[in-house]
Amino acid sequence: MSIGALANVRVVLVEPSHPGNIGAVARAMKTMGLTRLTLVRPERFPCAEATARASGADDLLYRAAVVDDLPAALADCRLVLGTSARRRTLEWPEVEPREGARLLLGAAAGTPVAVVFGRERTGLTNSELDRCHYLLRIPTDSAYASLNLAAAVQVVAYEIRQAATASAEGETPLGEAREVASAAELEGLLRHFEATAVTVGFLDPTEPKYLIRRLWRLFNRARLDRSEVNILRGFLKAVQVVAGRERGMGPQGSDVVANEFAPTRAGGDAGTDLSANGGRPVNGGE
Ligand code: SAH
Repeated sequence: MSIGALANVRVVLVEPSHPGNIGAVARAMKTMGLTRLTLVRPERFPCAEATARASGADDLLYRAAVVDDLPAALADCRLVLGTSARRRTLEWPEVEPREGARLLLGAAAGTPVAVVFGRERTGLTNSELDRCHYLLRIPTDSAYASLNLAAAVQVVAYEIRQAATASAEGETPLGEAREVASAAELEGLLRHFEATAVTVGFLDPTEPKYLIRRLWRLFNRARLDRSEVNILRGFLKAVQVVAGRERGMGPQGSDVVANEFAPTRAGGDAGTDLSANGGRPVNGGE
């Protein structure tokens, strides 16, 4: 681990409304050696005010990626921290900047990771935070917790740099060697799960409630790796095949089922067991 891992750390701003803040964020990043900025639907960009506030960091603005939604910003990331000034009613695992930075750097060797910042007025929505593994909160005075956007980026970027320098000097970053699934792979699993739940009548699509959100949180907490995603998708595919057979038709949501994924041995075994048993679950769900 080294300063080089900083190149894998992406700063994502969701719908920033003030171009001046975007420029100030670029400057905050560059002072700490971060270079990758992604903007999700910025209100005004590019903009002279952003360039002026970036000062000598305007190169980050020229290279910034501008995308339409958060999933596009995070697709290849394997660890995502969402920042918020507020404690949330639903529970996310919460970290302070120092621990968050160590987690991020621990995962950043050879794979993109991201830290997501919210709108100046309203922050991040709960469903945006669903896509984050951890909620990062900068401890503040209890009377006023809301930092300016660029100030928040500066604090987090500083800790990320500290974590990179410390680990370059031999401290072990937090993290794990497993290859965890990317945000896009999880998205595929979630869509597959949703389609299957609708097919078998477990989920009413007109009243989805919190099922999918809860599953995002569950899967993010579990930090599923690729082969685990494939096992689950193999199982879902088998469920859809049986459900389709019982209804005398092909599997529902076949566009989702047809997604590329290589069933692992466990996934394949599930399919074999089902067909060998007239389509009934072998263990009867016990
Ligand atoms: N009223 C908003 C504040 C938005 S401030 C809210 O309640 O969330 C804009 C962004 O700066 C936030 O979305 C977050 O990304 C970051 N930020 C501000 N204060 C923060 C804090 N104390 N901890 C972590 N992030 C913070």
